Amino acid sequence: MRYVSTRGSAPILGFEDVTLAGLAADGGLYLPEIWPTLTRDEIAGLAGLSYVETAVAIMAPFVGDALSRTELKLLCEAAYGRFSHAAVTPLTQLDHRHWLLELFHGPTLAFKDVALQLLGLLFERFLSSRDTHLTVIGATSGDTGSAAIDALAGRAKVDIFMLHPQGRVSDVQRRQMTTVLAPNVHNIAIDGSFDDAQALVKAMFADRAFAGRFSLSAVNSINWARLMAQIVYYFYAAVRLGAPDRPVAFSVPTGNFGDVFAGYVAARMGLPVAKLIVATNVNDILHRALSVGDYSVGTVTATAAPSMDIQVSSNFERLLFDLHGREGARLAASMQGFESERKLALTADMLSEAGGIFASARVDADEMALAMRWACQNANEVIDPHSAIGLAAARAAALPADVPVVTLATAHPAKFVEAVERATGKRPGLPARAAGLFEREERYARLPAEIGAIEAYIAERATPTA
Ligand SMILES: *Cc1c(COP(=O)(O)O)cnc(C)c1O
Repeated sequence: MRYVSTRGSAPILGFEDVTLAGLAADGGLYLPEIWPTLTRDEIAGLAGLSYVETAVAIMAPFVGDALSRTELKLLCEAAYGRFSHAAVTPLTQLDHRHWLLELFHGPTLAFKDVALQLLGLLFERFLSSRDTHLTVIGATSGDTGSAAIDALAGRAKVDIFMLHPQGRVSDVQRRQMTTVLAPNVHNIAIDGSFDDAQALVKAMFADRAFAGRFSLSAVNSINWARLMAQIVYYFYAAVRLGAPDRPVAFSVPTGNFGDVFAGYVAARMGLPVAKLIVATNVNDILHRALSVGDYSVGTVTATAAPSMDIQVSSNFERLLFDLHGREGARLAASMQGFESERKLALTADMLSEAGGIFASARVDADEMALAMRWACQNANEVIDPHSAIGLAAARAAALPADVPVVTLATAHPAKFVEAVERATGKRPGLPARAAGLFEREERYARLPAEIGAIEAYIAERATPTA
């Protein structure tokens, strides 16, 4: 499989290079040159497969000859063997038409494990035959940092430096990062906000000399391999609910548009998807874009679903690429306009094309709490604030009565215990795999939000390129 940039002028890469690369050289994001498709019979044939077997079947065309099928299967077995449920991503029925797809059975209790556990293994595999050492840097407001650290801890030829804002991530989230004591894991609490942390990471990538010397790399959701791993559970769930004979709808709590874009890819590959519901909280740029064509940046409001407190959704560019007829030069011009004006208007044609598959909803704090209570009272399920936003949007969606609606449950409720208790009166406990978190030793550095101090700290600990 060959990968092209959404902005049309970066080199075409294979799967291995695309996995190790971040942003394309022209500022765009990499995508497969064509969408591979499955026939109806091939989709029906997924019915008897395990999660790992489904993953291999769905991902093999994207991986191409970068890995043999046997190697791909071994990596999937290692990645998904660390999940605590035998079905990896089990479905739970809520009522006659609503289901939850539980994506939080991985080591750090959020859906990001599904992609990052595999990505960590792909990094190690591809680096083993190269003469390079990678330095992964990132900024986190919680979930991404812990999932990336768990995935990369102890892996050869990679160091990870994760910046979090001091005092502004939950105790569970901080401890999930800082109690990982592997020598290649480096946590840095900065005196500043999440935006400051993100700006520091950006500045380090922009410092060409520094970025080159330490082979800086990222594991954020613009990475193609992450999206690829997320396509799998759409097939896995839909087939269990009757696909390809019966179309299924999905409601996806959305931040960076990565998870729901994976659902879009599943549909492009032939999965009969009745609708993809893009559920946002009050940070609603995606809802405005998909309902009235207004993709314009507002200010970020902090909510009880912090992983969705995002204004610019980086992966939306991948959908815009298709909506621009896959013409990189045209999209590059639009994105330049967006970067200077902070807004972009979708044309009526683009809106109607997107509307064929996407619906959207904006869910406020009251509607979120109501959805949490509904799940508790009607199905005896305690759900987290992100999943509740998805469920509220799913229940409000106008869909034919015979279409099953699957809400993606993206985090374990114990990760957001205060918000869950406020809405439901229940205080979910940490599952066994996370027990002991509060007894473990923590290790992290505390640094000022200054690029000089952070770069000096990293330079002392990372491995420079020869
Ligand atoms: C990251 C995250 C999301 C948003 O996913 P995107 O791929 O950024 O749209 C939703 N819920 C939780 C719990 C997350 O960690």
